Amino acid sequence: MTELPARRLLLVHAHPDDESINNGATMARYAAEGAHVTLVTCTLGERGEVIPPELRHLTGAALGAHRRAELSAALRELGVQDGRLLGGAGRYGDSGMMGIPDNEDPACFWQADLDAAARSLAEVILEIRPQVAVAYDDNGGYGHPDHIQAHRVAMRAVELAAEDGHRVEKVYWNRVPRSVAEAAFVRLQDELPGLPFAKSATVADVPGVVDDERITTAIDGSAYAAAKAAAMRAHATQIDVAEPYFALSNELAQPLFTTEYYELVYGRGVPGETDLFAGIATAEAS
Ligand SMILES: [Zn+2]
Repeated sequence: MTELPARRLLLVHAHPDDESINNGATMARYAAEGAHVTLVTCTLGERGEVIPPELRHLTGAALGAHRRAELSAALRELGVQDGRLLGGAGRYGDSGMMGIPDNEDPACFWQADLDAAARSLAEVILEIRPQVAVAYDDNGGYGHPDHIQAHRVAMRAVELAAEDGHRVEKVYWNRVPRSVAEAAFVRLQDELPGLPFAKSATVADVPGVVDDERITTAIDGSAYAAAKAAAMRAHATQIDVAEPYFALSNELAQPLFTTEYYELVYGRGVPGETDLFAGIATAEAS
């Protein structure tokens, strides 16, 4: 096996598009700087709502296949070469929004055996040996069952991998500082008349918003704003982009952040850090 770069970053996401919205600038930046960036996506998002009318005939497996192609295109825009699907393509189905009958489908990710799914992810961790992992918080950022399950699987996989010989040194959750979200929505109100979206979302619609004190890490990805926007555009069934804003299928405008924020929840960081690998000795040699 060829030797991997010194710095290795793992991100775990629920559906195609979540990686670009949450971490697109971070992924593009670390890939450009020579780190090995691995994305594990847990489902193909077959129950997502489709925005373009001409693609609304896509449902179920056909939508999953289409979204898999969108994900590949997004990763090309981000310069990320290592994208994987948890357990292989189609292993775990999209569970749909919380509270619908689809949540009970035995094939859906929400019904997955936690340890079996985490074991699949732990195998990736043992292969890549990332120093840093990025996941959602315990509410999945906003309560979607697949996001909650992705959180559980990621945290359990880190434990399993540690038992089997690789300790991930730092684990982060995706965050947005409340002050940053609030300021962005103030700007959005001013600019809304010039945007192709009729209405604005609110701070409550943004996943992972927390009080500023909880933010440990800011990654300035402004140099990769174009790559992030292009990656989001690649998910055309899910996202309408009008930089520096975008909308999901609800057509509510929200800000597109190019500085991305994190809360360190496991491991030792550096105060005010601006690098996910800060304080990791083995990675600084690169
Ligand atoms: Zn999602």
